[in-house]
Amino acid sequence: MTVQDVDVVVIGLGPGGENAAGLLADAGLAVVGVEARLVGGECPYYACVPTKIMVRAADLLADGRRIPGMAGDATVRADWGPVAARIRDEATTNWDDKAAVDRLTGRGATVVRGRGRITAPGEVTVGDQVFRARRGILVNTGTEPVVPPIDGLKDLPYWTNREAVRAEEAPESLVVLGGGVVGVELAQVFARFGSRVTIVQGGERLIEREEPEASALLRKVFEREGMTVRTGVKAVGASYADNTFTLDLGGEKLTAEKLLVATGRRNNLKGLGLDVLGLDDGARTLEVDDRLRAAEGVWAVGDITGKGAFTHVSMYQSAIAVRDILGEDGPPASYHAVPRVTFTDPEIGVVGLIESEARDKGLTVRTGTAQIPDSTRGFIHKVDNDGFIKLVEDADRGVLVGATVMGPAGGEILGALSVAVHAEVPVESLRQLITAYPTFHRAIETALSDLNSPKG
Ligand SMILES: Cc1cc2nc3c(=O)[nH]c(=O)nc-3n(C[C@H](O)[C@H](O)[C@H](O)COP(=O)(O)OP(=O)(O)OC[C@H]3O[C@@H](n4cnc5c(N)ncnc54)[C@H](O)[C@@H]3O)c2cc1C
Repeated sequence: MTVQDVDVVVIGLGPGGENAAGLLADAGLAVVGVEARLVGGECPYYACVPTKIMVRAADLLADGRRIPGMAGDATVRADWGPVAARIRDEATTNWDDKAAVDRLTGRGATVVRGRGRITAPGEVTVGDQVFRARRGILVNTGTEPVVPPIDGLKDLPYWTNREAVRAEEAPESLVVLGGGVVGVELAQVFARFGSRVTIVQGGERLIEREEPEASALLRKVFEREGMTVRTGVKAVGASYADNTFTLDLGGEKLTAEKLLVATGRRNNLKGLGLDVLGLDDGARTLEVDDRLRAAEGVWAVGDITGKGAFTHVSMYQSAIAVRDILGEDGPPASYHAVPRVTFTDPEIGVVGLIESEARDKGLTVRTGTAQIPDSTRGFIHKVDNDGFIKLVEDADRGVLVGATVMGPAGGEILGALSVAVHAEVPVESLRQLITAYPTFHRAIETALSDLNSPKG
């Protein structure tokens, strides 16, 4: 065993951990970052970045098919698959793990490969190395895909997101188990690459976390594109033979060349040694305060905190945790305006609360909606202009507490509404906003007007 005294040990170098390690090293602290797999975490290698590159390729393909005469063109289909694979490879190279390590070490941090475990307050052990952290430990261990306990599934060669992004070819057929964000994004990508796709969703609707209107419209679009959407059905068994998966839906059987399991994520907390700190080793999330403190001398950021499993939340939290570790003052963490985007076509951008969440909080809720096809820009866009803007107002305070923008570039249009929810801009002030003609975001004006209309 070697023992080394440092200032801070960061366990897990996901987006937040990597950011924090760099910032702490910039501040002159002795920082050790411990990473079991790839520096940067899930996002650059298996999640946000490669999936959005696949989405980009799939969208180009869909746009090509929208040109009259190109619909269903086999050449377009055959040509775009390899293009997608190529740009995906390029992205993986750009986000190379070695380059990330070099960037961190260049700033003065030390990267240690291996699985870190808290072995005493202020102490982390990695293999036969022990690090004693004078200032503290920052935990950013992220998540793993969850594989549901379906009879026979465990040992099958199914895909998770990690295999799906490495696929060289679109399978002839694909069953996607799970209709959450990861499931719907990848389902549409592979359908547009030419796979025959079926989504099997246990819940009653797709993307259940979002507004019901978004779920319904997404289903309509998916079915129009030829995908099969099964909701409210549970898989009870799975098997694999002759290069074919069979999923048993309780009598009915589905078969496909590939099976993508996209049924959620599990936080990497088990076996981390949290019990040594008096924390629950079996907890689903690591409780943190508004400075990201989990215990004396322990900070946590990212998916494990349960405040929103997004790269931007992990990065946001890491900056606050770093300030606190450095003893600097600053605004505490606030989650009232966390944005999120489902990168389907149409894109679904959401900030803050959806209507049911606002009602559950006991707010006096007023909603306003605008349909994108009814807007001038929607009319101009014409084909595949599906979408809507829905605003959720706390009528007592006269401010927006949530918004959904579904439509072409929905995640980008969301930016304006993120500012409104974040800064609690009075609705009366928003009504004075001049929106450029003819943009998609101009439909916000219509949705604001609709806030006044009596609802049936
Ligand atoms: C398919 C998919 C698409 C996504 N798309 C988006 C998107 O478009 N936008 C978005 O904002 N978010 C997206 N996400 C979510 C996003 O990937 C995560 O929120 C993001 O990676 C932040 O996670 P994190 O900081 O908690 O850590 P992670 O990225 O999960 O990284 C944690 C790191 O800790 C390491 N680790 C774990 N335990 C130990 C240990 N004991 N010792 C040492 N190292 C350890 C792991 O190896 C890993 O590298 C997507 C997720 C998936 C699955």
